[in-house]
Amino acid sequence: MMWRQPPAATLDLMRSRPRDEHPGPGVVSESAVDIEETPDLQGAYPRLAEAHLTTLAGLGRRRAVRSEEILFREGERDCDFFVILAGKVALIEGRGTLEERLIGVHGRGRFLGELGLLTDEGSFYTAITVQPGEVLAVPAERLKEIIARDSALGDLIVRAYLTRRAILIDLGAGLRIIGSRYSPDTRRVREFAARNRVPYRWLDLETDPAAETFVAQAGVAAGDTPIVIVHGRLLRNPGNAELAAAIGLPVPATSPAGSDLVVVGAGPAGLSAAVYGASEGLRVLVLDGTATGGQAGTTSRIENYLGFPAGISGAELAERAMLQARKFGAQFAVPAEAGSVRRDDGQYVVTLDDGTSVTAGAVVAASGARYRRLQVPRAHYFEQMSIYYAASQAEALMCRGDPVVIVGGGNSAGQAAVFLSRHASGVTMVVREPDLSEYMSRYLIDQVERIANVHIMLGTEIRELLGDRALEAVTVEDRRSGARRTLKARALFVFVGVSPCTGWLADLVDLDGHGFVRTGHDAPSAPGTGWQRSALETSQPGMFAVGDVRSGSAKRVAAAVGEGAMVIRLALDRVRQA
Ligand SMILES: Cc1cc2nc3c(=O)[nH]c(=O)nc-3n(C[C@H](O)[C@H](O)[C@H](O)COP(=O)(O)OP(=O)(O)OC[C@H]3O[C@@H](n4cnc5c(N)ncnc54)[C@H](O)[C@@H]3O)c2cc1C
Repeated sequence: MMWRQPPAATLDLMRSRPRDEHPGPGVVSESAVDIEETPDLQGAYPRLAEAHLTTLAGLGRRRAVRSEEILFREGERDCDFFVILAGKVALIEGRGTLEERLIGVHGRGRFLGELGLLTDEGSFYTAITVQPGEVLAVPAERLKEIIARDSALGDLIVRAYLTRRAILIDLGAGLRIIGSRYSPDTRRVREFAARNRVPYRWLDLETDPAAETFVAQAGVAAGDTPIVIVHGRLLRNPGNAELAAAIGLPVPATSPAGSDLVVVGAGPAGLSAAVYGASEGLRVLVLDGTATGGQAGTTSRIENYLGFPAGISGAELAERAMLQARKFGAQFAVPAEAGSVRRDDGQYVVTLDDGTSVTAGAVVAASGARYRRLQVPRAHYFEQMSIYYAASQAEALMCRGDPVVIVGGGNSAGQAAVFLSRHASGVTMVVREPDLSEYMSRYLIDQVERIANVHIMLGTEIRELLGDRALEAVTVEDRRSGARRTLKARALFVFVGVSPCTGWLADLVDLDGHGFVRTGHDAPSAPGTGWQRSALETSQPGMFAVGDVRSGSAKRVAAAVGEGAMVIRLALDRVRQA
């Protein structure tokens, strides 16, 4: 199976080669001596200054390299951090296979690696020298130490690594997911990869003959699709936990048995609790059923978070927070869905959906909220393939060039419209209210109204979803006149409010009328206990709630982060008593 359409960056590199052709296996290393460096258009491939080279030299080992020497292979974990001191290095995906493609070429002063080096995931490509030269090899653990100590160098590397991950996602490097667009499991696997910011390329069994050939050649039965190829391994319709383990995400089995504090949910509130808890010396275990970042991780740009005048993507905020929490020693388990929690001999026992359990003296419920589902006939059917509750880079890739409809008139719908307008052929917003200002901030209304391919339909509601195997159109009704119109739509984005994720808490803590967790003075006192409940503490001592899941919370990133920080002060006392 050949890549029929190499991305633009690859094509440019090919043009600079002696022969104007895509390299087959081994070709890159044979004749690429004069291969040009990948241009640094987005700040992903900076050259280190002499001062930085001197700092790093003290942590690693310089060594001469010959041509065609492999520095690390695709799938390899625990690679060193390499700085190129002389010569050039090519990064090749699928080396030695028919899918081989050049991802980039780097020369003197540039460094190798991407985010996975800091998060212990396997490499998505092989790094091979194309000229004799010299490299500096620094063990990954030493790199993490220097990132924590040297803010200028650390920030340069982290920023480059985050951008490189975004580039890999755009290129469709990394995993191959081969499955039908109509298969719920294909959608699940793609979403899991996307939410965890794992780069992948999807081959649709419905439209891509190469996908069909591949499945036949691999001897995979239709019932075993989707198949996922991870670092050369073929997985048949893997569950999320199996996929996470193959990629190298932190699965529960690698987490400690006992913790001081278990944080359920790794959205902004949980990540903040992890950073502050671990930095205070607590043994913190963070569980998330899906991915780090929570709702914030699904938005392309947060513009009102303090300190980021140009805005920051939710994915970047989440990655940075996770690296920071890990730096202080917090442990993560993803995917790890908390199914229930109980008290046992002064400790809390959180049982995961795979039946394993973790114990801690205190628990922080940071399980946030999930978007409400659309109440329209056939919504459940189309949810498998055409309805989305997030609008990030991943969803944009899935509906590139298509007409899309957004339901909702709040800030998240507005952000989605601004973002998707750059990827979709056209965006229609279906808004119940007669005026956008009811739920959307002024700055966003101004942006949305200025975009030529965003069409806003006020006072309207979705009535029907049309299509056979995938969504093709929606019927929209004017709430006042009752007039109906049919709009083409290949994807429907739904932002119609949220419901709290409290199922795992069952009857243990007190909830308000909408199902959010009561804390502080709001939570009823246990009669006769004389126990003084602190703010953010639920009706159970040592069980706290922060962020969107908490009754009365502000439902904002900054507020969730603030509560995550504040809860640690309060939890410290309970942990010491436990
Ligand atoms: C599209 C969109 C755009 C937004 N834009 C902005 C913005 O620009 N500015 C702003 O301030 N706010 C914005 N928000 C709101 C903001 O993202 C939320 O207020 C914030 O994410 C809440 O953080 P949280 O940690 O409390 O909960 P969440 O972000 O909801 O995270 C909760 C986490 O808990 C996990 N979880 C749930 N149940 C379980 C369980 N049983 N076991 C394990 N894990 C579990 C979930 O998988 C999730 O990762 C936006 C929200 C959305 C959806």
